[in-house]
Amino acid sequence: MGACFDSATFKACDEKTLTKKFSELQEGRSYDNGSDTYAGHIGIARGLTISSKSFKTVNEAEDYVQNNAQKWSSAIAVKVGDFSKIFPVTATEKKEVQKLDEMQKKFDNWEKDLIERVKASKSAHRGCKRCGSKISVKYVKTSHCPVCSDMRFIETDADRKNYETLRVKLKEQKEKVNALSKKYDEKNKNNFWYVGAWCAS
Ligand SMILES: [Zn+2]
Repeated sequence: MGACFDSATFKACDEKTLTKKFSELQEGRSYDNGSDTYAGHIGIARGLTISSKSFKTVNEAEDYVQNNAQKWSSAIAVKVGDFSKIFPVTATEKKEVQKLDEMQKKFDNWEKDLIERVKASKSAHRGCKRCGSKISVKYVKTSHCPVCSDMRFIETDADRKNYETLRVKLKEQKEKVNALSKKYDEKNKNNFWYVGAWCAS
């Protein structure tokens, strides 16, 4: 059994975005080409090590990664080009990105937070207004009634309204952040991440 070198490039971005994009690429490659131990593609690399190295050319980047990556280990990412202007740059831009992250987190945790609210309340039971069931709080696992599936078992009309508002605001914030980041596309058109790994095959 040997090893083959596999690589991918990603447009210049911050490390958090790179980690997310790389993990999406790994999922895609594994879906298309299989994910067994000897699949021989970057999708099976064990995670990502982001190096602080940066290079002027892709050849230099490739040499470095080929000499430093290990079989059965993570892929290595290095920078090619100038990464001094990677969105978010200004304090305002960073603030907008942080705001987006917070909204996204609130949105993703919506149901979990509703359930936590019930568990944190003083009463040991939760009554369903629709079917009249009394459910022991410790068995509450989702936001709908386990007996009649009523969606408003925990979520009030006010909650639903807040959720809708959050959904709209989140979409607006995403568009705002995308527009801000677009300004850097031209500056970074020659800058990218080079990621490579030795993959068992
Ligand atoms: Zn019910």
